[in-house]
Amino acid sequence: MPRGVGKVVSASRDGMSGRLLSIGECMVELRQAGAGLFAKGYAGDSFNAAYYARMFLPESWSVDYLSAVGTDRVSDESLDFMRSVGVGTDFVRRIEGRTVGLYMIHLDGGERSFSYWRSASAAKALADDPSHLREAMAASDVIVFSGITLAILSPDALATLLSELGRARSAGKTVVFDPNIRPRLWDEADRMREAISAGAEVATIVMPSFEDETTHFGDGSIEETIRRYRAHGAKSVVVKDGGNGVTIALDDGTSHFVPSAPVAEVVDTTSAGDSFNGAYLAHLARTGDPKAAAAFAAGIAARVISHHGALVERENLLSADA
Ligand code: ADP
Repeated sequence: MPRGVGKVVSASRDGMSGRLLSIGECMVELRQAGAGLFAKGYAGDSFNAAYYARMFLPESWSVDYLSAVGTDRVSDESLDFMRSVGVGTDFVRRIEGRTVGLYMIHLDGGERSFSYWRSASAAKALADDPSHLREAMAASDVIVFSGITLAILSPDALATLLSELGRARSAGKTVVFDPNIRPRLWDEADRMREAISAGAEVATIVMPSFEDETTHFGDGSIEETIRRYRAHGAKSVVVKDGGNGVTIALDDGTSHFVPSAPVAEVVDTTSAGDSFNGAYLAHLARTGDPKAAAAFAAGIAARVISHHGALVERENLLSADA
């Protein structure tokens, strides 16, 4: 296995088998389908990453989602959907009287805007039971969460999740954090920055987008983003910078630039970062080679943004799956 953070992805196994667990909220998505009709889908950053990881990991790996849904019909359907794309739902709790969150995409010309209905979302309770988190993490090798996962939790639940993630990292699990900074999900910018920094403290790999980091932490350069997250304790930092490429900082202190893949026409950037994360982790688990993983993930993300929607079907990405 090459040096670098690749080896930690398969710490406890031979690299060809394992379990990836992604933690967060998957919502119902309503998008315009013409003539006043809406098409229904399911999406959410942590679920999107799980979807792409599942697509590119070998069969010997399992991919599971950890969340909470209600006991109503739409909650049942969301679980059916997850299973239909190969993502396990054994760690999704059912909560009586709650439901799944929902958002609607509005299109005005080429511009997208969103309306959300997520205040009754069961996923807010995903970290209420520490023993449930502990059991799921103990059964997993790679654990993925994001700044959006943190943003939907109460302060107590946030502390519980971070404490269990810290325990998992100490036990040798690979904990992966995408800060995915969304200020409108937080009541206060300082609390948001504190929580994001605390997320990095329990992470092995941090996968930020430079645009978010420079906007909300004032980083003047990608190197500054890397230094800041390393100072919090991340072993590896993978900074995505849209069409400009990716810089990967490894646990041996080296940094490597990997260019983005060409895109003829950007159709919809939804899930660019999530698909990059899922494809990167899958390829890293298979090969242990972070640079090859970044090049592979850049190819997948480029194809994802050439299509509509967060979850692009495998057939539309096949030429990148060589
Ligand atoms: P996020 O979606 O989290 O904001 P980025 O915008 O940085 O993340 O994009 C994630 C990845 O998607 C990039 O690292 C790159 O591989 C790919 N990507 C995004 N925009 C483009 C683009 N215009 N051309 C080619 N690749 C892109």
